[in-house]
Amino acid sequence: MAQPQADIALIGLAVMGQNLILNMDSKGFVVCAFNRTVDKVDQFLANEAKGTKVIGAKSLEDMVSKLKKPRKVMLLVKAGSAVEEFVKKLLPLLEAGDIIIDGGNSQYTDTQRLCKEIAPTGKLYIGMGVSGGEDGARYGPSLMPGGHSAAWPHVKPIFQAITAKASGEPCCDWVGEDGAGHFVKMVHNGIEYGDMQLICEAYHLMKDVLAMEQDEMAEIFDQWNKGELDSFLIEITRDILKFKDTDGKYLLPKIRDSAGQKGTGKWTGISALEYGVPVTLIGEAVFARCLSALKEERATASKSLLGPVEFTKENKKEFLEHLRQALYASKVISYAQGFMLLREAAKVNNWNLNYGGIALMWRGGCIIRSVFLRNIKDAFTKNPRLSNLLLDPYFCERIGECQQSLRQVVAKAALMGVPSPAFSTALAFYDGYRSRVLPANLLQAQRDYFGAHTYELLSKPGEYVHTNWTGHG
Ligand code: NAP
Repeated sequence: MAQPQADIALIGLAVMGQNLILNMDSKGFVVCAFNRTVDKVDQFLANEAKGTKVIGAKSLEDMVSKLKKPRKVMLLVKAGSAVEEFVKKLLPLLEAGDIIIDGGNSQYTDTQRLCKEIAPTGKLYIGMGVSGGEDGARYGPSLMPGGHSAAWPHVKPIFQAITAKASGEPCCDWVGEDGAGHFVKMVHNGIEYGDMQLICEAYHLMKDVLAMEQDEMAEIFDQWNKGELDSFLIEITRDILKFKDTDGKYLLPKIRDSAGQKGTGKWTGISALEYGVPVTLIGEAVFARCLSALKEERATASKSLLGPVEFTKENKKEFLEHLRQALYASKVISYAQGFMLLREAAKVNNWNLNYGGIALMWRGGCIIRSVFLRNIKDAFTKNPRLSNLLLDPYFCERIGECQQSLRQVVAKAALMGVPSPAFSTALAFYDGYRSRVLPANLLQAQRDYFGAHTYELLSKPGEYVHTNWTGHG
C-alpha cells in the first residue's frame, strides 16, 4: 500500500472549500479533497486544481487512508445537519489523536456539544471561524479556532501559514475551549452587521440631509479611508458608490432597498439577550435589516405617516466632519459592546479569551479588517484585564472628542426624519453607560408595586425589602 501523503483532508468543494484547498496547496501542504457529491472531486482536480499537488478521494475511507497521522480532516460544508452527518461518519474511521475541524459558520452551542460528545473517544475536535469570503479563503482568511486545545499544535503550522498577516503577524491564534472559536466568529459577524449599518446611515444622511451626488460621496469615503476609519468596508463602499452600470448610470440607486441576512447577526443578538449584555448596536443593525425588508409596507406608510415639517440647510463641510466623527465614535461603542459580550460569555463558559489576540485575528483577512483594530489590540495588550474598551485611556479620550459630533448627527437625523438607528443607539448606550444614576429606581418600585418583586435601598446594600404601595392589605 502506498504511504499516506496528505497533510490534511478538506471536505466540501463549494466556494470556500475550493479556495482554502488552493491556498493550502500554494503554501506547500498536500491536501486531499472530498465532497458529498463525489463527481465534484474529479471536476475540481481537472479544472481549478489542475497542475497542483492536490489529490482526491473517492470515499471517506479512501480519504482517511491517504492522510498522515495524526489525521486532520477539515469540513467546509453547510452548517447544521451536514456537519453532524460527516462527523458521525468520520468518527468510526479515525483514531484517538486524529482531528476534525469544522470551518463552517456553525452555532457555537453545536460545537460545544460536539466537543463534549467526542472527548471520550480521544479524537479531537476544533470549531473554527473562517472569515474573508472567497478571496480571503484563497489568499489569506482570518481564522478563529477553538475546541480541544490538544489539537492546536498539530494544526497551527497549517493555519498560521494560510491565514492573512497583519504587520507580519498571523491573523489566527488559538481562541479557547469548545465553542469559543465559533462564538468569536459569530460576534465578528455581528460587528460586521453594525459596521455596515453605520456606513449605510452615513450614506443616507449624505444623500438626504446634504443632497450630495454619488461621486462626491465616493470622494468623502475615499478621504475617510485615508484616516482612522481606514477599513475594508469603507473602501468597498467608495468603490460601490463609483460603480456605473452598462448604461453609464450609477448602479447603486437601481438596487432594491430590502436587505437579506443569513442569521449570524441574529444569533449575536440572541446571545446578547441570553447573556444579558447590552449589545444594542448589533441588535439595531439586525432590526434595521428586518425593517428594510418590509418594502411594500413602508411604501404604503410613506403615503400616510407624517414626517418633519421644517428642514434647515446644513453647512456641508461641518456636517461631514460631524458625520466622520460620529461614525468613529459609534464604531468604538459597537466594538466595546462586542467585547463586553465576549467577556461575559468567557466568564459563563470558562473560556480564557485573549482579547488582544482576537483584535489581531480581525485585523487582516476578514470583512471587518481595519486600521482601528490595531488600537484595540494595543488597548488589550497594555491592559489584558481592561473591563471595557471605552475605559482604555486612548479610546476614552477619542470618544470624548467625538461624542459631541455624534449628538449633532443624531439630533439632525431626528429633526430631518432620516432614520439612524445605529447612530442613535450608540449615543443612547454611551449616555447610559456613563450615567451614575439611571431611572431604574422607579422601575424597581414599579416591579415591587405590581409584583412584590422587592427592591434594594441605597442605604442598605444587599437587603431586599417590599413596600405596601397602596396601603391595602
Ligand atoms: P455552502 O454552500 O454553505 O455548502 C456547500 C457544501 O456543503 C457542498 O460541499 C455541499 O455538498 C455540502 N453539503 C450541503 N448539504 C450537505 C449535506 N446535507 N450533507 C453533506 N454535505 C452537504 O458552501 P460555502 O459557501 O463554501 O460555505 C461553507 C461553509 O463556510 C458554510 O458553513 C458557510 O456558512 C461558511 N462560510 C462561508 C463564507 C462565504 O463567503 N461563502 C464565508 C465564511 C464562512 P454537495 O456539493 O454534495 O451539495
